[in-house]
Amino acid sequence: MSWHVAVDGQRCIASGMCAGAAPEYFALDDDRARALADRIDPDETVLDAADSCPASAITVTEGGREIGPRP
Ligand code: SF4
Repeated sequence: MSWHVAVDGQRCIASGMCAGAAPEYFALDDDRARALADRIDPDETVLDAADSCPASAITVTEGGREIGPRP
């Protein structure tokens, strides 16, 4: 099952950590990051990015269930 990736632009503080750690999935624009694709094949790299986002701005869901960031 594919995953859905979203970046909350209101929460993002443009640290750039996601784009640095997972450039195939995230890009940093002027003042916020964005997901390069909202539907992706499962990849732990994206969960790691969600876990390490300092603003908890990245959400990963699978079939409507939130799986990242992990508790
Ligand atoms: S890691 Fe979080 S706060 Fe930093 S650029 Fe990415 S989404 Fe924004």
